[in-house]
Amino acid sequence: MNAFDPAHLRPRLPSPLEPVEDERFARHGLTLLLKRDDLIHPRLPGNKWRKLALNLRAAAGRPVLTFGGAYSNHLRATAAAGRLLGFATIGVVRGDELARRPLNPSLARCAEDGMRLVFADRATYRAKHEPGVLARLLALAGAPGDTYVVPEGGSNPLAVEGCRELGRELRGVADTAAVACGTGGTLAGLAAGFDGRVLGVPVLRGGFLGAEITALQEAAFGGPRGDWRLDERFHGGGYARTTPELDAFAQDFEARHGARHGLAIERLYVAKMLHGLLTLAEEGAFRPGTRIAAVVTGAPEPQAASSR
Ligand SMILES: *Cc1c(COP(=O)(O)O)cnc(C)c1O
Repeated sequence: MNAFDPAHLRPRLPSPLEPVEDERFARHGLTLLLKRDDLIHPRLPGNKWRKLALNLRAAAGRPVLTFGGAYSNHLRATAAAGRLLGFATIGVVRGDELARRPLNPSLARCAEDGMRLVFADRATYRAKHEPGVLARLLALAGAPGDTYVVPEGGSNPLAVEGCRELGRELRGVADTAAVACGTGGTLAGLAAGFDGRVLGVPVLRGGFLGAEITALQEAAFGGPRGDWRLDERFHGGGYARTTPELDAFAQDFEARHGARHGLAIERLYVAKMLHGLLTLAEEGAFRPGTRIAAVVTGAPEPQAASSR
């Protein structure tokens, strides 16, 4: 461990596993458990801590450059880690039109944490991992030569390896684990560490994620790992979108369990996963007796004047 390892931030690990009394699951003989990764660290919640930990240890204090959209939880977590551990951060943000507008609360938080923000037009952003384009972005950001680059969404082999621990924490205490997927890095690691089945709920439309998860596992472990599948029905219109039904579902879930568990449902990932899980339970997809761990991968984003 070096001085820049987020293990110094006293993460709450293993994260708590909480049984939830929900008659909609109990009726089918199912036990619902919440895997509270949202409680790992207040500023680096959920899978973002797990994905960054080994990368930041490898970066060892060098400046870290990474990429994200205007509301990226990954950018916020990277910026927070930089401030808390004392290394420089650079965020390449998708959309050059954003440079001319006031920062939204998520980007404002990144800037407050000292992240240098660089806005890239969409064509450049799409090509960001091509060596020439990346070199141009690094120059534009004034990034030093030893800058450590973490890909968009933070998913690389070290991130996947970090998420393997999530699967290990669930061994023997759950039969099925459910997780929302953006890049799929979290699922790739979770499935490798777990001995049960894993259900992934993609929040993007498109049907390409399965191949990307396979590629992430290939890069991290040298081949496919674990017993996982995706259910593509619950993206709610796609990335960063939600629907009135989904919002009503999340509000109802908070009304049932929020107070008792100190839980707020993050809408763009966690709500979609829980909604998918309930739908599958009602469809009879799980054998009676199944213990289902729903991974709470994050917390709601900060509002305009949120407390820290
Ligand atoms: C980033 C994020 C995810 C997606 O994780 P991937 O590893 O990219 O699939 C899921 N849930 C929340 C709350 C997130 O912030």
